[in-house]
Amino acid sequence: MDTPYVGRFAPSPSGYMHMGNLLAMLLAWLDSRARGGRIVLRMEDLDPVRTSAEYARAIADDLRWLGLDWDEGYPDPDFSQSRRTALYEDAFRTLEAMGLVYPCWCSRAQRLAAASAPHPGEALHDPRCRCARLTDQEKAALLAAGRKPAWKVRVPDETVTVTDGHYGTYTQNLARDGGDFIIRRADGVFAYQLAVSVDDMRMGVTGVVRGRDLLSSAPRQAWLIRTLGGTPPEYCHLPLLTAVDGGEKLSKRLGSLSTQGLRRTGTPQALVGQLAFLAGLLPRPEPVSPPELLPVFDWDRIPKDDIPLDKVFQ
Ligand code: GLU
Repeated sequence: MDTPYVGRFAPSPSGYMHMGNLLAMLLAWLDSRARGGRIVLRMEDLDPVRTSAEYARAIADDLRWLGLDWDEGYPDPDFSQSRRTALYEDAFRTLEAMGLVYPCWCSRAQRLAAASAPHPGEALHDPRCRCARLTDQEKAALLAAGRKPAWKVRVPDETVTVTDGHYGTYTQNLARDGGDFIIRRADGVFAYQLAVSVDDMRMGVTGVVRGRDLLSSAPRQAWLIRTLGGTPPEYCHLPLLTAVDGGEKLSKRLGSLSTQGLRRTGTPQALVGQLAFLAGLLPRPEPVSPPELLPVFDWDRIPKDDIPLDKVFQ
């Protein structure tokens, strides 16, 4: 028997949702429901400073308002990343026992410099920073001086290929294209890459639908999941919406078109119709409910290039 399809909504409650989040949620819902699958709603509230319970409530409320339902998850605390630390700790220990984890004391500036290839398209000089070569004595001295390290995972010189359901084959050499990456920050908070991999694996997620700004994370996540003994999900990335006022990626920080504003001025059906039109599923932005889109849902209709929002907002 085929494994049942499990999709997910994985919002970060660091602000109100915007059109980009909503489009990702709508397509994740359609993708899962079109296959007769289930959906979990996971709150990615890892960062206690940037996220809040109030935004989590608002996001769940917006999803319900839009008509996007889920089978499991929020408000069950087991589906909030802030409550799943023991699972991340466990994965961290597993990687550590494999000899793959080391402390890193690099500053933010050093990390940024190391992460940028010498010239666009060229490989990194060195997949790991100088911290990977510190002696036990040097490490002990830094720890004794009260310097808290971040923790990195050592990636192999391995080429990982992810077959994206929308963009096709996407390949990265983990060492050359990204290098070692942080799995736990110096303040103790587990990093996104580790948490999302552990969660997708432990929640039995079989399909990930999200914005293509995360496509470049997929090989790292697939590798982490395999290293931890799991099977990576299928990935399907969608184009980003670009702001009305010039090619910038829509983000919460721009404060653009948040659900709070959109809910004041329109109905859920009107908004779903606009999203479906932007995604190429409808010829016109007509009011529609999510289930009414199931018969026309088809990844082949969805553009691959980023979508300018001024198709609906002048
Ligand atoms: N929490 C992330 C966001 O809201 C999405 C992470 C993911 O889908 O892997 O952008």
